[in-house]
Amino acid sequence: MCGIIGYVGENQAAPILLEGLSSLEYRGYDSAGIAVFSDNKINIQKAGGRLSVLNQKTDNGKAVTGTVGIGHTRWATHGKPSDTNSHPHLSKSGRFAVVHNGIIENYIPLKNKLIEKGFEFVSETDTEVIAHLFEYYYKTDIVEAAIKVIGHVKGSYALGVLCSDYPDRFIAVRKASPMIVGLGENENYIASDVTAILSHTRKVYYLEDDEVVVLKKDSVKIYNIDKDEVKKQAFTVDWDVSAAEKGGYEHFMMKEMEEEPTAFMNTISPRIKNGRIVLDDISLTEEYIKNINKIFIIACGSAYHVGMVGKYLIEKTCRIPVEAVLASEFRYCDPIVTPNDLCIIISQSGETADTLAALKEAKALGAKTLSIVNVVGSSIANLSDDCIYTWAGPEIAVATTKAYSTQLAVMYLINIYFAEKLGTITPEQYSSLVAELQKVPDMIAGILAQKDKMQYCASKFYNCHSIFFIGRNIDYAVALEGSLKLKEISYIHSEAYAAGELKHGTISLIENGTLVIALATGKMLYDKTLSNVKEVKARGAVVLGVTTADMPDKEDLGDYLIELPDVNEMFLPSLTVVPLQLFSYYVASLKGCDIDKPRNLAKSVTVE
Ligand code: GLU
Repeated sequence: MCGIIGYVGENQAAPILLEGLSSLEYRGYDSAGIAVFSDNKINIQKAGGRLSVLNQKTDNGKAVTGTVGIGHTRWATHGKPSDTNSHPHLSKSGRFAVVHNGIIENYIPLKNKLIEKGFEFVSETDTEVIAHLFEYYYKTDIVEAAIKVIGHVKGSYALGVLCSDYPDRFIAVRKASPMIVGLGENENYIASDVTAILSHTRKVYYLEDDEVVVLKKDSVKIYNIDKDEVKKQAFTVDWDVSAAEKGGYEHFMMKEMEEEPTAFMNTISPRIKNGRIVLDDISLTEEYIKNINKIFIIACGSAYHVGMVGKYLIEKTCRIPVEAVLASEFRYCDPIVTPNDLCIIISQSGETADTLAALKEAKALGAKTLSIVNVVGSSIANLSDDCIYTWAGPEIAVATTKAYSTQLAVMYLINIYFAEKLGTITPEQYSSLVAELQKVPDMIAGILAQKDKMQYCASKFYNCHSIFFIGRNIDYAVALEGSLKLKEISYIHSEAYAAGELKHGTISLIENGTLVIALATGKMLYDKTLSNVKEVKARGAVVLGVTTADMPDKEDLGDYLIELPDVNEMFLPSLTVVPLQLFSYYVASLKGCDIDKPRNLAKSVTVE
């Protein structure tokens, strides 16, 4: 959740650390800090609040000299955001400075033990135990101290550590929290996310759990838990630097919505050859697919909503039972999973803590695992049996848009691919689905081109206290996503309901002027949803309807109407969601909300 960066090289570290933190700030942003070796002493500067406070305090880093340092933006889990609780944290004598991403689950017994040994704690964080533990276990070798420390802590951590005895280096270690090593010319880096170092290097090492790295300007050495040196292959990241910059847009979210057509196309086009879907990424044979007993789609947040769409689509097209399940529930519900079940795991970052744990659980139960992930080399991608990457490029805004779109694209590919192998669609249907899938990006672009319609709707409703989304079948799955997007960035209370469910309770909340956004894109259920619209209108609701241009009687659907191009119903979620994303964006903008960094939220949720 938080962002970590570390630098060792020939340049001044502090400005590099601060610049890196600014591109990590989306991960967590209630406070920030840096520690830099200045004249062989560790100089710590930290401050609660946004990174701008620290920038000001350090004159954009110019006031802190030195060429080795670590930095952190915090998303508080233990102790309120404050100057004292900000990272880096120092050990008792000041010999070690530590930045940490994650949660130390056994920090209370460790803290009690350290207090007994005479250590004093100044912060409320779990992290401070790490700094003191380093000091407690350190003799002369920092790698040995690190191995001792990680042998005693439980939980998740990515750590950057400075030791004042070694001013030419720093060390790093990770477990279940993201961290990569960036390799430069006479300089090396660590970062929570590749976007933080993209302007300096594209060559990276991905670290395994509990590998300890020692970084000097001209060397990077990695050790395993037995202190044996580990040799690694470096990867080259092909993300474009401009992809992680705003490029003239006011917000990343708008930029990323505008990138949806390209991202969608980048995801499907390498996998369609001569009119056929070719999934080289996966090892699932036709025989395996024919013998799948059940599919679980496991994810959190918006990715879970993609899973809901997947459930409706795969059950309808492939006739395989599918359960979409929240990762945080799956991992503790003693799930009934057999070796003939396929678990599809979805995560943009590939580091989502709950999803990663659910993946491990699915594997332990013997299921085959297939992940849908955006970040190459991430933990979920590495750990799953097969991975299909969504080529969305870096997504910076906390509220996902293009990653959601590309996850849907992969879901369509899987659905059509499986259906063909299973013989549940005819060759003609297959060809026509593949052809239509390739038209979706242009259709998304067409909706984005009419964004002022959604700006107009937002201007009518941005003062609402509560907004309901309704829909049936896949429209319900998209309603869930529309409602989540609105809550995330505009802070308006909102709920999504299966349209037929309203009358079983929720309709009591509808009063004069309540906005109901009714999604009615499926032809078979259109009349049913229309009846539900009549029910809420009879109780005073104002309705914003979303349907396809060719739907008969569409004018009856709402006081305001959004028309989508006609496409095979399988692909409609990709179109339906776009006006909802735009609506949330404009509502949040009119309310003056911080769209890219909504309160209390962080991207890439790497804690439980
Ligand atoms: N648990 C630590 C804290 O609350 C680290 C949180 C983070 O990952 O930012 O300070």
